[in-house]
Amino acid sequence: MRDYDTVNAPRSTTPIYLDNNASTPMDSRVIECMTDVMQSDYGNPSNTMHLCGRRGAELVEIARRQVASLIGANAREIVFTSSATESCNLAIKGVAEMYGRRGKHMVTCLSEHKAVINPLRRLESQGFNVTQLSPDEHGRVSVEQINEAITAATILISIMAANNVVGTLNPIAEIGKVAKQRGVLFHCDATQAVGKIPIDVETMGIDLLSLSAHKFHGPKGVGALYIRGQSPKVRLAPQIDGGGQEEGLRSGTLNVPGIVGMGLACEIARNQLNEDAQRMETLRDHLFKSLASRLPNVTLNGHPGERLPNTLNVSFAGTVATELMQRLPEIAASVGSACAGGTDDPYYVLSAMGLGEDRAASSIRFSLGRFTICGEIDSCIEKVGNAVNVLHNNEIKSPACQAGCCEGRNDS
Ligand code: PLP
Repeated sequence: MRDYDTVNAPRSTTPIYLDNNASTPMDSRVIECMTDVMQSDYGNPSNTMHLCGRRGAELVEIARRQVASLIGANAREIVFTSSATESCNLAIKGVAEMYGRRGKHMVTCLSEHKAVINPLRRLESQGFNVTQLSPDEHGRVSVEQINEAITAATILISIMAANNVVGTLNPIAEIGKVAKQRGVLFHCDATQAVGKIPIDVETMGIDLLSLSAHKFHGPKGVGALYIRGQSPKVRLAPQIDGGGQEEGLRSGTLNVPGIVGMGLACEIARNQLNEDAQRMETLRDHLFKSLASRLPNVTLNGHPGERLPNTLNVSFAGTVATELMQRLPEIAASVGSACAGGTDDPYYVLSAMGLGEDRAASSIRFSLGRFTICGEIDSCIEKVGNAVNVLHNNEIKSPACQAGCCEGRNDS
């Protein structure tokens, strides 16, 4: 198995970074390419009267094809935005405004990201009706629940591909099928799934899909929305008015370096998706098995099988996760979801899954990335084990790599 990617990895190695669902370090190939663009390709891509502008426009179109190709779309179906949050807002509010006369009902799930929940909440205040389904104990919503929730007034289903807190995957292709059968548009927030698992808008029956570059080793501040171009052709009301860029759907001068970086990050992810996923899954499972074998009452949160290959959310019974993390300054991991931003209940996803307050409060999310190495996981096992034991007032013996991925190699 390939290990430490010395050429493309970020330079900083401390603390041990296991918070890739919050944001990923940029791949050095992406940084290099963006640096070139920032130095040389500064023309405004809307200004195609001169060579500099045309060059910018060309770069944007290359990136559009790279993004489309990662999700099985056509380049014309991609609109660049500033983030997945903006993409979700454009999808949800854009559908509401365009199709609201047909019906005023939307279906979603309680464990969705706030980027979906809050635009829907705003629509509720404007007279829309939103059904928020409860996920099961693993964090999954079923296709039967969706089918039952659809009424004659339903115009949109918004369900995430993968949950950011526990990594659970939803049955997206089945939901897409039901949406089609019932004539309802389907928006999928695939922010955590893109670049980690295969996503294909055609075979999954997705009409609108939100993604964000910083979740797969691309830059922050750039996202995209896929908008189905045929069968059916989805129409959205723009939410930002101005110069009419992106076919009028998203005005504002395009962030050319960011878009180029996103395109390259998509191409890299597509080329090494399986390899990256396998490595992360092996290390993630090693982390869980080692923690579970050394510590009492370690419980997995999320689906045991239908889960992102990089995500491990565990509860350490008898501890409070915030206290545990305070004892672990060398480890960057998440308590609840980083995106809750401190203003919302950080446990709302775990609560929606039916986890009790104690279990939710003792949960930590470890999320791996392309550049996570076995030595870091081993170190994490030791440090977390020791910290939990201090809290439990117990002793722990030092772990050795059981995944077999360190043999004959020095990770330092
Ligand atoms: N949707 C999901 C599932 C997420 O995990 C996140 C961020 O963590 C977002 C949307 C928002 O993404 P962005 O940071 O690009 O706005």
